[in-house]
Amino acid sequence: MSTQIDTQSYMEIEEAHTSGVYPKRPLTIVRGEGAYLWDDAGNRYIDCVGGQGAANLGHAHPAVVAAIREQAGVLLNCPEIFYNDKRAALLERLTSLARMPRAYLCNSGAEAVEAALKFAKLATGRMEIIATKRGFHGRTMGALSATWEPKYREPFQPLVPNYKHINYNDLAAADAAISDQTAAIIVEVVQGEGGVNPASAEYLQGLQRLCRERGAMFIVDEVQTGFGRTGKLFAHQHYDLSPDLMPVAKSIAGGLPMGACLIGERVPPLQAQTHGTTFGGSPIVCAAALAALEAMETEDLPGRAAALGGWLLERLANLPTSKVREVRGLGLIIGIELRQKVSPVLKSLQERGVLALPAGMNVLRLLPPLVISKEALEQAAQQIEAVIEGLPELS
Ligand code: PMP
Repeated sequence: MSTQIDTQSYMEIEEAHTSGVYPKRPLTIVRGEGAYLWDDAGNRYIDCVGGQGAANLGHAHPAVVAAIREQAGVLLNCPEIFYNDKRAALLERLTSLARMPRAYLCNSGAEAVEAALKFAKLATGRMEIIATKRGFHGRTMGALSATWEPKYREPFQPLVPNYKHINYNDLAAADAAISDQTAAIIVEVVQGEGGVNPASAEYLQGLQRLCRERGAMFIVDEVQTGFGRTGKLFAHQHYDLSPDLMPVAKSIAGGLPMGACLIGERVPPLQAQTHGTTFGGSPIVCAAALAALEAMETEDLPGRAAALGGWLLERLANLPTSKVREVRGLGLIIGIELRQKVSPVLKSLQERGVLALPAGMNVLRLLPPLVISKEALEQAAQQIEAVIEGLPELS
């Protein structure tokens, strides 16, 4: 086991050499298993960060680890100018699960979104994108242009032109904004980073209808909501939607970096050379993804998320209203909107052995691995309750 001195030095080394773009917590994580993480002093934590959505299968899932080990000795990398056995198998599996015929493989959520935006422009010959207030779609320039948060956007103006941000869950606003110049509407089924805001069925179905009527592409960003998180394999399946383009990433490869943009029937065949990336569809990530998708199915992770999420939402419903404005979510993406800042709550929870996320300034966001036991979730809920009840009353 490492010592406290090591902890200090790891932090110092990272502080000295890291980019500085991440708000870091003073904690060095060295190991994970299932829904637990360990720091370098051997302390165990209940993980409600879930790799920010990349650990739906839990840490070190045995099937994913075995697939990575096996493929590592065979072939790591193979650009998509060649065919590959693992990629072929993954493409077949992924498109069948998503019920969309094709997929572009890449390495992250932002890249998957970037692809969706470009493919929508190619499909329609139009250049306008409609996104939503409080939406988050990534930090590369195209994806950032669709992201709403001003503090992420402002240092980089001018961004890509012809992006509009409309009120979320407001169909009339979408109707007014969409035009014959609109290439796509991009939306999250539950806004994750923007505060854990679920959309209504009517809104999402209305957006899809508007896109169909006006010749625009309907992009459903499932980077955070995908792969069982909300209680269905993909969140749009709650509302019987059929997106034209669907960016996914995070847990697709059981924790390895991978993204994909699923492509629907309304997108005409894409021409060679219009997009691409060196590492897209590498055999090692494809092998991991195949194992991950199989485990999601055999362990019924969407079903677990639905059952545990429903239970947890009810369990947290009695938090004191003097401290909590609202508890909301879908499956195991849960937001607790506080009447004060969330950062002290995150700190206290960490001291009590629970790691959780913010969503904006005052929402506590829980994204536990979907393999988490009810007991671990109950322990996390008890700590959350204790910390929130102990918050000072606002005067
Ligand atoms: N879209 C959504 C909905 C996301 O939540 C995120 C990441 N939080 C992204 C896109 C960007 O993904 P990545 O961080 O892998 O680039």
